[in-house]
Amino acid sequence: MDRAAPPVTRFAPSPNGRLHLGHALSAIVAHDIAKARGGRFLLRIEDIDGPRSRPELADEFRRDLAWLGLEWEEVPAQSTRLARYAAAAEALRQRGLLYPCTCTRSEIEAAGALPGADGLIYPGTCKHRAPDPARPAAWRLDSDKAVTATGPLVWEDALAGPQRVDLSGLGDVVLVRKDLPASYHLAVTLDDAADGVTLVTRGADLFAASHVHRTLQALLGLPVPRWHHHPLLLGDDGEKLAKRRGSPALAERRERGEDGGVLAQQLRMQLLALGT
Ligand code: GLU
Ligand code: ZN
Repeated sequence: MDRAAPPVTRFAPSPNGRLHLGHALSAIVAHDIAKARGGRFLLRIEDIDGPRSRPELADEFRRDLAWLGLEWEEVPAQSTRLARYAAAAEALRQRGLLYPCTCTRSEIEAAGALPGADGLIYPGTCKHRAPDPARPAAWRLDSDKAVTATGPLVWEDALAGPQRVDLSGLGDVVLVRKDLPASYHLAVTLDDAADGVTLVTRGADLFAASHVHRTLQALLGLPVPRWHHHPLLLGDDGEKLAKRRGSPALAERRERGEDGGVLAQQLRMQLLALGT
């Protein structure tokens, strides 16, 4: 991308839980970079998490962002784009780059999978066997074939600098879930391209995913953005402030009458302290 051009950034929350401080930080990073450079800040609701998705949370998210003092443009939610995901998956499947996987989580654990950058690395059980047609199948990216197809690839993170694509951190990821025509990786890559995002901002916990997304861009002929993985806020115990660990929801603080603008300023100070 043209570095001098005003960036298009986005915040892409999934409505499967309330937003917490870490989300606020992500939204502020994306918002502030866009505003400072005359760009655009997009909101995209990533609502394809099947049964865990609670569409009513999207309204709460919009109230939270407004409370923080942010302004955004909203782009279509993922649930409106399923046909596009299915078409891209089909194109990859036809090129032999995907294989069906019928494994359950417990089968993957039992097969001695090793931990990777985001959970267990799939041990490849289904790669060389015919799938049992009676069992539901997910479709995984064959990372060896993908690397052969793309050749060496690079991408750039605004904070960490140039990166060489290395798929070993995540292994053969799922691109089509058993219950959905996409996974996070496929949907987010297609959406960022469709929405014209030129600077993908998100937490450093998703750093390894960007290697997969860069590969998908090459395989699908999509434009290549830059990335900005911001450091994560840590709780007093040094643990990541994840919603599952009970950090207070933004909506709770908002409903208690806390000033969102002040909170946003405090988060900006923390960002400075984190060195971004
Ligand atoms: N929906 C994803 C999440 O909430 C977004 C990740 C991303 O920004 O790529 O974790
Ligand atoms: Zn499998």
